[in-house]
Amino acid sequence: MAETSCLFCKFATGEIQVELIAQNDGAVAFADINPQASIHLLIIPKQHFENVGELATSAADLQAVMQLARQAAELSKISDTGYRLVFNTGADAGQTVFHAHGHLLGGRSLQWPPG
Ligand code: AMP
Ligand code: ZN
Repeated sequence: MAETSCLFCKFATGEIQVELIAQNDGAVAFADINPQASIHLLIIPKQHFENVGELATSAADLQAVMQLARQAAELSKISDTGYRLVFNTGADAGQTVFHAHGHLLGGRSLQWPPG
């Protein structure tokens, strides 16, 4: 179910237009508005889940997100060079949007550990 006040639900339903990089039955991918690498996409389930822990309760939606991340990495030509898929979850991780989303980052050498 879409949450009426959730920005990413509005992206997923098309109520607010965003350029989609890719989509499948259960997930959509679009560019992060504040990119942290030359490739920085957000992969979100179409259904509303607050975070990746909640997303993990639905095998079909979790699979849709992970498969779309793989496809988006291929489309972005970072499958071979490498990429990071990050799900910030909760306050200590700095989650600011409470609709589950994976950050797909690539196109440069990424530091580890993150800050
Ligand atoms: P997080 O801090 O993990 O919750 O990440 C939220 C991400 O959503 C940030 O990287 C923001 O730059 C991104 N974001 C917020 N608003 C928008 C928007 N309107 N379009 C695209 N990305 C957005
Ligand atoms: Zn939502």
